[in-house]
Amino acid sequence: MNKLIAIVEDEPDIVELIKIHLTKAGFNVKGFPDGQSFFKFLGKNDPALVILDLMLPDTDGLEICKFMRNKEEFSSTPIIMLTAKSEEVDKILGLELGADDYVTKPFSPRELVARVKAVLRRKNGKKESEKILVGDLLVIDSGRYEVSVREKKVELTSTEFKILELLCSRKGWVFTRDKILNYLWGEEKAVIDRTVDVHIKHLREKLGEAARLIKNIRGVGYKIEE
Ligand code: CA
Repeated sequence: MNKLIAIVEDEPDIVELIKIHLTKAGFNVKGFPDGQSFFKFLGKNDPALVILDLMLPDTDGLEICKFMRNKEEFSSTPIIMLTAKSEEVDKILGLELGADDYVTKPFSPRELVARVKAVLRRKNGKKESEKILVGDLLVIDSGRYEVSVREKKVELTSTEFKILELLCSRKGWVFTRDKILNYLWGEEKAVIDRTVDVHIKHLREKLGEAARLIKNIRGVGYKIEE
């Protein structure tokens, strides 16, 4: 069965454009013009990924994102935000509220499709359970997509998880921002270096005591040090 992708966006032309391209890429796509209709849909459905426009007639994408992250069943559903160029602050906020990625309008439909695939691949890439222990307090279970600090589970976005997993895959090894971006988005990357810093910042906040394990190598990148 084709994966179901929901688009919440009040501009019909944009919904139509995204629909055409995602359908061509083999996805099942449903569009919603406002928050209300989307919430109704969420009551009975479990989309594989959600594309959220920031400005909606009855609510905004950040509110929807926040709502989903606070619900157990949607806490790890991949979310891509659509933002206008001027909404820089909101982009950062979107990531803070747990969006996995964002795309700036005007965007090329091909780029969006690539991002959708990348986010889904990241989410579904690992199936086998493999645990990494760092500094006797941080455990990363790549099969279950779970992270815990002193046996307490920490909720991460899939991007934060992926970054942490990468850093921990080679302890002590310095990963440049560029390497991290390449790992996350491959050839499809169209994001700025600073995106990595934003994710790392949130990652550190969520890791609490274990935050000290992530070291910033000034002007180069990041590493894990026990
Ligand atoms: Ca809008």
